[in-house]
Amino acid sequence: MVRMTEEKHLPQIGEAQLKLLERLSNACAVSGDEGEVRKIVLEEIRPFSDEVNVDALGNVLATRRGSGELLMRVMLAAHMDEVGLMLTHDAGDGIYRFDTVGGVTAIDLPAKAVWVGKEHIPGVIGLKPLHLGNSDDQRKPVGLDDLRIDVGPVAGKVKVGDRAAFATVFSQQGGSLRGKALDNRLGVATLIELVKNSPSQIDLLVAFTVQEEIGLRGARVAAYAFNPDMAIILDSTPAYDLPTWDVDENVRYNTRLGKGPAIYVADSGTLYDPRLVRHLVETGEEHGIPYQIRQPGGGGTDAGAIHKQRMGIPSASISVPGRYHHSPASIVRLSDWQDTMDLVTAALFHLTPDILSGER
Ligand SMILES: [Zn+2]
Repeated sequence: MVRMTEEKHLPQIGEAQLKLLERLSNACAVSGDEGEVRKIVLEEIRPFSDEVNVDALGNVLATRRGSGELLMRVMLAAHMDEVGLMLTHDAGDGIYRFDTVGGVTAIDLPAKAVWVGKEHIPGVIGLKPLHLGNSDDQRKPVGLDDLRIDVGPVAGKVKVGDRAAFATVFSQQGGSLRGKALDNRLGVATLIELVKNSPSQIDLLVAFTVQEEIGLRGARVAAYAFNPDMAIILDSTPAYDLPTWDVDENVRYNTRLGKGPAIYVADSGTLYDPRLVRHLVETGEEHGIPYQIRQPGGGGTDAGAIHKQRMGIPSASISVPGRYHHSPASIVRLSDWQDTMDLVTAALFHLTPDILSGER
């Protein structure tokens, strides 16, 4: 459904966009090893960009200039990396100790399938079989020290330092999408579409960042390089909206599936620019695009590094809500992705410099 009459080139999510998200989700890019996703990004955006660079850390920095003089310089950012594991010790016979990269908890790991290294060597996360343990073992919480990655005897194909990603193949069931790393391949896919359909009254400065999951490292240098007037960060945030069994009312849902893009007001890294938050909310209201306010609280996005760069950069974040992030498989709604695309596009088309001179 096209809600806006004045924006003729609204990105619509069709088969091509879903195929792209599938490729991005199935690619492995555990922090610091983002090459696979970067390759897809470069392929997709090159024909639509005035300038494309890969910086020293591996961020993709692209510019798409608008037409006219002294245009607003608007940075859009989406992180390419995902949480995962890293092999730390070769115990022989294809068995490796490992550590986590980014926010992964041991409880999510036993018996899960993984892809190891650049060749996606299939492995499984092993734990002592329950029926061989005593009752004490069964009550003990599982820790990383109890777990190993087992790739079998594949000499030379796997080594200490290699990353391991969850081995989940993307799938779609009607309006529901399931895949690994949808945090943040959804943001990456959205940003690719925005590069292809950007409005001409602004200069678009696009950063596909590295190493967000281990402390917003890529975003920090990307924002320094661009020195933009403002920034919008595209990400995916947890929806903890399951029916609860221990309380009557779920008051810690963060976001809910099916309620549209989540607009941030505050998280543990950023108090978002109130003028930009207002612009996003008003854009949603004026164009009838569903949106939700993400519950203020913990977590964060690349904005945590971007808004503190140089003399300060007014920042906003918009996320597609998703269940079970940082685990082997997330579930998201196609409608939330489309509404996110619509809201960001409309917000960019209606962006004027006076928004940033308005009252806070
Ligand atoms: Zn993320």
